[in-house]
Amino acid sequence: PSITRGVTKEISTVSWDDIGGLKDLKKELQKAVEWPIKHAAAFSRLGISPIRGVLLHGPPGCSKTTLAKAAAHAAQASFFSLSGAELYSKYVGEGEALLRRTFQKARLASPSIIFFDEADAIAPKRTGPDGNSSGNVTVGERLLSTLLTEMDGLELATGIMVLAATNRPHAIDAALMRPGRFDKVLYVPPPDVEGRFEILRIHTRKMKLAEDVDLWKIAEYTELFTGADLEGLCREAGMAALRENISATSIHNTHFQAARSSLSPSLTKAVLD
Ligand code: ATP
Repeated sequence: PSITRGVTKEISTVSWDDIGGLKDLKKELQKAVEWPIKHAAAFSRLGISPIRGVLLHGPPGCSKTTLAKAAAHAAQASFFSLSGAELYSKYVGEGEALLRRTFQKARLASPSIIFFDEADAIAPKRTGPDGNSSGNVTVGERLLSTLLTEMDGLELATGIMVLAATNRPHAIDAALMRPGRFDKVLYVPPPDVEGRFEILRIHTRKMKLAEDVDLWKIAEYTELFTGADLEGLCREAGMAALRENISATSIHNTHFQAARSSLSPSLTKAVLD
């Protein structure tokens, strides 16, 4: 079978400017991911070994995937994405085969970024709560050992970086956190008021807003909204304007208010503690 079966390469078009807030995190990713890929020759000239993996964790809808895509775009790297849950649900052996094919394809297409969403499903802890292994080799274990082999096999100069995302960092196996694997662990927080303002600005860039729309005020009354929620809010405000008048030429403050009262945030206060 073709080595590319089931593996899809994407060329990302998302840029750092498409992500609101998270200024320091973006800088951190530029240094850890973009530079080593873009300036691979300089790194090897100075004998610096770049990190191979970065784990992003934080609540859903707060741009982990988007950050990985922006890093790929900035580094002009091919982007391969895999879902842990999807690999886990495949027939016996299929998940491992897809994992191996993806690394192989990424090597051929390098520079590349491989992105694992729901990484906790690929790498569940290998022991039960009592500290004992069940004795059976589980799907998760086989996927994990394949992933470890592939990551250990990445040569430093190949220009391949692995980014992973999870909402449950504690469910990730400790073996993945050893040096040369996911050396960097970064928390992607929910947006604060400034972050929400920037996200609203980004998602209304192409919308016709009336003068009475104050994005800062909207940012203030959308505490606990994720980036994805705010994107939905902007869309809903546009829909409200159209529902009121199908020939509307702009979106007003009242439409944002209507959208705000019809939507509830995804996050709970506990996330902010
Ligand atoms: P999940 O854990 O559910 O996979 P995620 O953290 O990977 O979520 P994304 O898929 O990156 O989140 O974000 C979902 C959508 O929300 C994106 O398509 C993007 O449009 C929007 N979004 C999230 N955060 C931001 C942000 N900081 N700036 C602009 N848009 C954002």
